[in-house]
Order: sequence, then C-alpha cells, then structure tokens
Amino acid sequence: YRAKADGSTVAVYDPQLDAERPERMALFGELRALLDGGDPDDQLVLYYQPQVCLSTASVTAVEALVRWRHPRLGLLLPGAFLAISESGRLEIPLTYHLLRLAVRDAAAWQEHNPVTVAVNVSPKCLLDEEFAHQVRSALAESGLRPSLLRLEVTESSMMTDPDKALAMLRQVQGDGVQVSIDDFGTGFSSLHQLRQLNADELKVDQTLTRRVATDPGNAVLVRSAIDLAHNLGLFVTAEGVEDLRTLAVLRDYGCDQAQGFGIARPVPVDNLETACAVAEERARMIAEPSRALT
Ligand code: C2E
Ligand code: MG
Ligand code: MG
Ligand code: MG
Repeated sequence: YRAKADGSTVAVYDPQLDAERPERMALFGELRALLDGGDPDDQLVLYYQPQVCLSTASVTAVEALVRWRHPRLGLLLPGAFLAISESGRLEIPLTYHLLRLAVRDAAAWQEHNPVTVAVNVSPKCLLDEEFAHQVRSALAESGLRPSLLRLEVTESSMMTDPDKALAMLRQVQGDGVQVSIDDFGTGFSSLHQLRQLNADELKVDQTLTRRVATDPGNAVLVRSAIDLAHNLGLFVTAEGVEDLRTLAVLRDYGCDQAQGFGIARPVPVDNLETACAVAEERARMIAEPSRALT
C-alpha cells in the first residue's frame, strides 16, 4: 500500500515491498517503542552538515539530519526508515523528538559557534494543531533564540491543505523562527503559493545542482530558480554540491550559500567544529580562482 497525498492509500503490487514487509514491520515497532520510551540509549541521533556563505566563506548554518544507530542493522539513513514512520503516523512524534535534540545541541554550541540550526519538518506536522506550540516550547526549554532555528519544509508538504499549512507557518514565523523551502525544483507548488509563504530561504534540490557545471539546459533552471528566489526576497542555498567546480559556477550565478559532500559531509555533533573548519577552507578555495579546481 502506498500513501497518497490526501492521506488515503492505494494498493500496488510490489514484490520488493512484500519481501521487505517483515523487516519493515519490525522497524516500525522498534521505532514506536523508542519514541514512546524516550529513546533511553540514544539510538536516534542527529548528524550535522555545514552550509557555507559563498561571499564570506564562513559557515552560517548547519542542517540536522537524522540517523538511527540500530542495534542489529548498524547506522541507518533516513531513507531506510522515514517512509516507515510516515506510513504509521510516527513522523509527528519523531519530528518533535528531533526538534528538541537539535535546538538543545544548537543552544550548547552558540557560545563558540553562533550558527543557525536547520531542522527538517515532516509534511504532516504542518497540519498538526500542536506544531507551533511544540516549536515554541522546544525553544523555551533550550534557551535558543528563535531566529537561530530554521524549519525546512518541502513544497509537497504544502499540498494537502495549503491554507492550513500556511497559517501554521505564519505562527512560527511570528515567533521569529526562519522558514526554508527544501528540495525546490522537485515539487509542483505554484508561484502564488511561493510568494504567500514568505519564506527566508530557498534550497535548490541536488538533482538540479548536480549537473550545473556540465549541462547547459540544467544551468538555465538553476539560474532561474536563483533569480526567482532573489526577486521574492529569499536567499538561496544549493544542496548536493559535490565538487569545487560546481561551487564556483554557483557563486558566479549569484547563489548565496552551499551545502554538499564537496564542502563537508554530515557528521556527529562531536566532529562538527572540525567539519566547519574544513568547510570554510573548501569555500575559501573558490575565492582564489588561480588555484586548480577539482
Ligand atoms: P534533505 O533535507 O534534502 O537533506 C539533504 C540530504 O542530501 C541528506 O541526506 C544529505 O546527507 C544528502 N547530501 C548532502 N550533501 C550531498 C551531496 O553532496 N551529495 C549527495 N548525493 N547527497 C548529499 P539524508 O541525511 O540521507 O536525508 C535524506 C532526507 O531525509 C532529507 O533530505 C530529508 O528530507 C529527510 N530527513 C533527514 N533528516 C530528517 C529529520 O530529522 N526529520 C525529517 N522529518 N526528515 C529528515
Ligand atoms: Mg533538508
Ligand atoms: Mg533537500
Ligand atoms: Mg530531500
């Protein structure tokens, strides 16, 4: 069964899915137990990936990305369990749990490292009555300034009930929290909605970023997305930047920030300071065009 955007499901025959079903059900049960029990041995952890500013080469933000240190299966990426959480309505408690971890980490590193923390918000949260309250209380408990939290939402998360989702985001924006449009270029949101949302950041999806230096047709899309965002008053972050050549092209197009394996990989919080130093070193390299680009 596959969930549709309207919350109903359709049956599709997928032998692959059948084969995985026992494993999926086991993971679902384990995840529910973790969230119900407060995850006492910290199996759910956040890795952080730096974002660099292309004009100053400094790290301005880090994105929190969930990992599951699974006792049997090892380190699981979100691709291995997010869909499972979404199929069983665990994504709301999961998002709130991770939000708390992220703002707590961010509050702790502010003294040394005053950067914004970006948290991914799963689509159903925007329709949850508790959402704004959860964000507010997580911030209050941590002591993190609201302006240092950025919530990443996808265009598709606005589709089920755009008015309600917009109203929800307005509430948190009213508290001073930033909003980002994630995976831009893969969804189908209208330009009207984009303007109404009044977000702070637009993240160009990695499928667009990836081929920017090699595929001219693709470059047109990326330049247009950057111009559109700027004309709407948003700053632009390109995700999935895997090499310095792409980074230099993006800078020439006027892209404001970048994130990707070519700058720094997501790392556990203990390695974040080192990762930020590496990211800034990489970003400085494109400020000196005389150096050979990889
Ligand atoms: P996203 O929000 O678009 O996050 C970016 C993803 O791209 C991350 O994958 C990151 O590791 C990966 N990435 C970053 N730079 C590069 C690059 O240069 N090349 C390539 N190939 N990949 C790169 P990850 O951590 O596996 O997360 C996948 C998706 O899962 C995220 O996409 C986001 O939609 C979701 N997700 C991750 N963490 C959370 C979370 O805490 N809560 C929720 N609700 N969703 C999450
Ligand atoms: Mg994201
Ligand atoms: Mg993305
Ligand atoms: Mg994504």
